[in-house]
Amino acid sequence: MPLIETSTPSAQLAAVRTSIAKAAALAGRPAEAVELIAISKTHDAAAIQPLIDAGQRVFGENRVQEAEGKWPALKEAAPDIALHLVGQLQSNKAAQAVALFDAIHSVDRESLADALIRAIDRAGAAPTCFVQVNIGEEEQKGGCAIDTLPVLLGHCRTIGLPIAGLMCVPPLQVEAAPYFALLAKLARDHGLSGLSMGMSGDYETAVMLGATHVRVGTALFGGRS
Ligand SMILES: *Cc1c(COP(=O)(O)O)cnc(C)c1O
Repeated sequence: MPLIETSTPSAQLAAVRTSIAKAAALAGRPAEAVELIAISKTHDAAAIQPLIDAGQRVFGENRVQEAEGKWPALKEAAPDIALHLVGQLQSNKAAQAVALFDAIHSVDRESLADALIRAIDRAGAAPTCFVQVNIGEEEQKGGCAIDTLPVLLGHCRTIGLPIAGLMCVPPLQVEAAPYFALLAKLARDHGLSGLSMGMSGDYETAVMLGATHVRVGTALFGGRS
């Protein structure tokens, strides 16, 4: 049987881009206002390369070590690739993260902000940083508590770590819209324009509610084992 057209990586990419454009149009936003981050965690170079070939240039990983294993070689072939770290970061890996990633979405505590600014100063790098907010106030989730967000943002300002926006992963299996709306309000209250929110199951909703960065894995690569 011939491959069904929509199962090819480039067709999946086109479909996700079309959905983003439609959701953006519904909200009166230009599609270019939304950065699609292809989340390639657990997928190997052979799975990632077709998306690079199809023109995708922004990718995301959730583990420093995994990213170090596969991205230097992939980036050599396509140096204009931007790599985003979307998973939790240990302070002792800040230097490695700063060396490899163009953006870090998981700043969630003062000690990590301190480690990042030290690594940034030493490396002369300038990764785009987002503060992750534990928007559903879930015990096991990463992200700073909503209550402590003002203090953390103040600390980042004090030490000179520029924060581009806020990031969240809402609770699973419930409607995400209220959490996206809350994150958007928090960003507005703090004068931040970046909003990293929306995954395969809810990125269209996130775009309608103002996402500037959507993090999409499964809808592009298929399921993870
Ligand atoms: C894995 C992951 C994603 C992508 O999730 P999908 O549901 O596969 O699109 C987005 N954000 C974070 C933080 C992730 O860890």
